[in-house]
Order: sequence, then C-alpha cells, then structure tokens
Amino acid sequence: MRKRLVILGAGESGTGAAVLGAAQNWDVFVSDFGKIATKYQDELNLHNIAWEQEKHTDEKILNADCIVKSPGIPDKAPIVQAAKAKGIEIIDELELAYRYTQAKIIGITGTNGKTTTTLLTYHLLQQAGLNVGLAGNIGRSLARQVAQQSFDIYVVEISSFQLDYLDTFTCDVAILCNITPDHLDRYNYRLKDYADSKMRIARNQSNKQFFIYCADNELSLEAMARNPFGGHAIPFSLTQKFTEGAYAEGNTIEIHSKENYTLDMQEFTLRGQHNAYNSMAAGIAASLMDVRKDSIRESFGNFQNAEHRLEFVQKVGGVEYINDSKATNVNSAWYALESMDSPVIWIAGGIDKGNNYADLKPLVKEKVKIIICLGLDNIKLHQAFQCDVDLIINTSSAKEAIHVASRMAEGGDVVLLSPACASFDLFDSYEDRGRQFKEAVRNL
Ligand code: ADP
Repeated sequence: MRKRLVILGAGESGTGAAVLGAAQNWDVFVSDFGKIATKYQDELNLHNIAWEQEKHTDEKILNADCIVKSPGIPDKAPIVQAAKAKGIEIIDELELAYRYTQAKIIGITGTNGKTTTTLLTYHLLQQAGLNVGLAGNIGRSLARQVAQQSFDIYVVEISSFQLDYLDTFTCDVAILCNITPDHLDRYNYRLKDYADSKMRIARNQSNKQFFIYCADNELSLEAMARNPFGGHAIPFSLTQKFTEGAYAEGNTIEIHSKENYTLDMQEFTLRGQHNAYNSMAAGIAASLMDVRKDSIRESFGNFQNAEHRLEFVQKVGGVEYINDSKATNVNSAWYALESMDSPVIWIAGGIDKGNNYADLKPLVKEKVKIIICLGLDNIKLHQAFQCDVDLIINTSSAKEAIHVASRMAEGGDVVLLSPACASFDLFDSYEDRGRQFKEAVRNL
C-alpha cells in the first residue's frame, strides 16, 4: 500500500511538497485551515492531489505516515499537537526535498541577512555559469524544484521555523549569518533556545562539509560552543584576520579560502557594514564552489538586492528617501542607521517583538534629528529616545509619515524607514509597508 503523506498548509512550500510527494508515489493529502490561493488550488488539481481548505479533518490527517508542516503553522496548533501525541513523524518541506535530491546544498540561516546573502550567493554562482537553483524561505519551494528541475546546486534560505523540523537534512556549505534576539515569542522568550535552533543547520554536517560563521557575533560563538557540529568551520570578521576565512582591510575584503582574493568594497552595489558581512559569507561560499575570483569580482559589481532592504527610493528637494521596511528588529535597524552618513529623519515603530532599544541610543544620538513613529502604540519609542532627539512625532499611515518627514527635512537629510518592528498593526506585511512608503514618496 502507498504510504500516506499529509501536508499541513498549502502555500508555496506546502504545495511544492505535495507535488514532490505525488511524484514520489506517496498517497498525498493537503489540508489548510485557511483559504488556499487559487494558483495553488490549480496546481494541486493539475497533479490530482486531494485537498481541503478552511478546516483540518482529523481522520484524514492523523492516519498519515508522515506530515509536512508549513513553517507558518505554530507548534501549539491543536492538529500539530494531536499528530505529535500519536507519534507521527513531522518534517519540514526542506527535509522532504532533501530525501529526494543528490544536488549540493548551500544553506543560509541567521537572524538578519539571510535573503541578501542567499540572493548574493545565488548571483555569484549563476553568473559563473553553474547550474544552480534558488529555494527556501526566499519564496520558492525546494521540493517543487527537486520534483521538476535538475539543478546541480541549490542555494537555500532557511528560517529557524524550518530548521526546527529538519531531521537528516544537511548542507555541503552552511552559512550562519548571525544570531541576535528576534522571534523570541516563539521560543518562550528564551534566547538560548532560539540560538540553539539556528545551530541545527550544522548539526548533521561531516568534516567534508563547511560551516561559515561570523566571528564577531558573540551569540553565534556561544551557540557553537554549546552545540556540537562536524563541519569544517570558516570564520568571517570585520575585526580579526584569519589565514582561512574572510576579513576587512580598510575598504577591501580579503577572502582566503579555496582561492585567495581581494575585493574592493567601493565597487560593490551593496552598502554598509552588514552587507560587508553578507558579502564575505557569500564570497567564501562561492569560492568553495570553485567560482573563479574574476567572476566573483564582476558579479559583486552588478548585484541587485531585493526590494525593501536599504532600497534607495528617490531624492526630492535634496532629501534622500530610503526604504528599509524589512528591518523588523533592532539589530537590522542598527545597521541601517550605522550606514547613514547624513542627518537622519528616522521613521520607526509598529509591533514591537520585545525590543530593547538601548543598543540604538548612541547611534540615534549621533545621527538622528527627528523620529517619526509609524505605529499604533509608540510609547516605548518615546520612552527610549526622548532625551536623544529634538522631536518625536506620532503618525499612523505611510502617507502621513512622509508628509511630516518632507515638511521637516532640509536639503542633505535622509529620510529612512527602518522600523525595528513588525508591520501588522497598520499594514498587511513589511512589503505592504514598504510599497506604501515608496508610493507616498513618489507622490511628493
Ligand atoms: P532576512 O532574510 O534574514 O530577514 P534580509 O537580507 O532580508 O535578511 O535583511 C533584513 C533586514 O536586515 C534589512 O533591513 C537589511 O538591511 C538588514 N540586514 C541585512 N543583512 C544584515 C546583517 N548581516 N546584519 C544585520 N542586519 C542586516
């Protein structure tokens, strides 16, 4: 009899897992407690995969041999609890995909920088002519690609919610960008648990595989000391030098790995210290995949990052507007502020995930003239920064925030949206927040 694979959640990863399961002759059933987007309904129908929406029918789910849980479904969900109580194996879509591919995998995780590092690594490999796929949390299912394509290498962005449900999965090259406090609500407010979950990316590695990490990030170093891992560790740093690894020297980055080479950061399209870190990690990974230095150099000079990450929008009346809506935690906002070299009007706020603003105070004192709060509840921002800036103003829409910012700004200033908070109080998502911001700027 065919084994039964039940997929909980029919978004990008769930639908991809269903397609792969069907291709591998599982008896597949998909269940989503919400509505399934039409394009995914069509895809499931095309592959004759049974599905239900707006409910979870226990009898059709709890008879599974294996369940693939979409990362958005919390452990607390009753159906997940029931499956656990019955001892059913629960895995992530990446784990399922891994069981059916021989391709090399470069896996990228961390609190901040995952998407940038993933896109950059993919770019370096693709430009060098390698047969490479882009997958994971970035919005493209690995499982679907394993079912339908034949890439030699995958660059996979992995969130900690996905890591929690990996079992045998391992990466030929793992990158841990950094660990800073975020999503603590999902880890019972225990930073150690969150940090340890990030180390799962390295858990199954052998000594023929590589683990690239940030030697300047205390929490990564502590997590590495607590969690045994087998991969060959390669560090990157802005403060120390290594014979093997990557480091900065003035305006250049030195990469000492399979190839030794120097990159001039002024020729990069990416700016800021955080992007120097991301570039070092991606540069080591590309070198481990045998990409030649000339190709790497050229690709750094023509890389286009994704929307909403320190994205330059427009200059209006001598004032620059920058959309960093993806900065949903304090650490990413820190790097955004750090990379500014003109006086800043800072638009911040939204849903605070237990933020501690103390780390931002010196930068705010030094660089920020005015804070424009863009959130329903802005009390913590006022309390944190009232002594550090001339003015803090509350607003409740992107349009209003831009209206106020444009009236306050003087030529030479930067208006920076880098909220340090999630967006769901006033917007559908960080993308929605970023787009409304850009539209308001373009209407000035
Ligand atoms: P992720 O996918 O991990 O959320 P992104 O590359 O999408 O990371 O970047 C998210 C936010 O964090 C952006 O505001 C970006 O400017 C900032 N950022 C990018 N890389 C880093 C880094 N290495 N350290 C801190 N912040 C970063």
